[in-house]
Amino acid sequence: MNHLPEGVAVCPFRYIVRGRTFCALAIRESRFTVDEVIPSTCAECSVAEILREHPCGRMALGVEIGVYGGRQTVEMYYASCELTVERILDISDCTEASCPFWVPPDPERAAAIIEEAKQRQGKRTF
Ligand code: SF4
Repeated sequence: MNHLPEGVAVCPFRYIVRGRTFCALAIRESRFTVDEVIPSTCAECSVAEILREHPCGRMALGVEIGVYGGRQTVEMYYASCELTVERILDISDCTEASCPFWVPPDPERAAAIIEEAKQRQGKRTF
């Protein structure tokens, strides 16, 4: 039986296509970034922690996964508010207690983001 390596949570944004695992939040804007992930990449990713501590339904997240010499690392996290359409520069304000726009997270959202990612992937040329 397979076990997840220690520290690797089942991320709601990870998905599988033909036996390969991908991150639906990955931003691919250069040839040094990837959306295919391996367990060590996800083990160092802070998205699960961000969502646990700041679970707002209006927060849009992105990650930049760099690949250098065969090693993948999560280089950057991006967060924006879908209501104000602004980058979130201080995520500590994203709580029910401190933000008037806070809404609870939508449990269906990750599945919708994965669907979008799969469609983008089908159109990608690199
Ligand atoms: S890199 Fe982070 S957000 Fe992406 S699938 Fe892995 S754990 Fe999830």
